[in-house]
Amino acid sequence: MNKKGHVLNAILLSIGLGYILQPSGDVETFVQIAEMIVPVTLGALFPDVDTAFGKHRKTLHNLPVLAVFLAYPYFFGNLEFVWVGVVTHYLLDVMGSKRGIALFYPWPKEFGLPIGVATSSKWADAVTVVVTLVELAAFAAVHYFVLSLDSGLGAGIRASLGV
Ligand SMILES: [Zn+2]
Repeated sequence: MNKKGHVLNAILLSIGLGYILQPSGDVETFVQIAEMIVPVTLGALFPDVDTAFGKHRKTLHNLPVLAVFLAYPYFFGNLEFVWVGVVTHYLLDVMGSKRGIALFYPWPKEFGLPIGVATSSKWADAVTVVVTLVELAAFAAVHYFVLSLDSGLGAGIRASLGV
């Protein structure tokens, strides 16, 4: 997926997550969206830095990189929500293109979906919106049934562990 797709995905996802985390639809919802939209968009742009540094779709498109972004809020109390952008970037690359990503880099094998839609396709924006809706359903399910994402994943994990 190209930068336009990733930014569209990040913005729609942040708006949706704002309503999932703060469903009131008033000022709290908009504060939540404001809190998420910048870090999520930055996270969604980050993996493609490997077009300049390293190997594209490998060096920064893998689970160890995601683990770093998940660890930051927990250990350092910053970069909250950037991981959401990184996850959504991976998903969109897998579903919104023909090529996969090297999830377990440095093992170079790329994982993709045979139903991936080419970035240049006229369906690219539609795929982006569908991927966003699927992600929102998944986040909502986690938020309501597994662990609360209210104050970021780090706080959610701490709260669920009682620490
Ligand atoms: Zn990418």
